[in-house]
Amino acid sequence: MNTKAVRLAARAMLAELPHLLDSEAGELERELTAIPDSAPDDMAAVLITNAINRYESTRKWMDVSIRLEAARARGFQPLPGVPNEIPAPVFVCPDGHWSWVRLRPEPVPACIHCGKLLAPKP
Ligand SMILES: [Zn+2]
Repeated sequence: MNTKAVRLAARAMLAELPHLLDSEAGELERELTAIPDSAPDDMAAVLITNAINRYESTRKWMDVSIRLEAARARGFQPLPGVPNEIPAPVFVCPDGHWSWVRLRPEPVPACIHCGKLLAPKP
């Protein structure tokens, strides 16, 4: 297993914990963030895997995340029906008239109301 990928996935998982777990989310977050950045990748991967495998939801999330990352590394697109983990970027008019979601690589349009260039939503 790619231990570096496990660390990166664990970092991404922190943001998802409130959706994946109920009362255990805080406990797992503390456990994951307690692993020092200076720890060697293989040691950190063991600690992360042990912590995440305790819960069905986080174990599955990690499993899907690692497989998607491996597929991306090989140059394949995720299978149809597998939700993309990366949310589509939202662009908004600086004056708040309009918002637009970029679903594929394409130029950002101007606001349909005032013509100002849309900016990434903060
Ligand atoms: Zn506008």
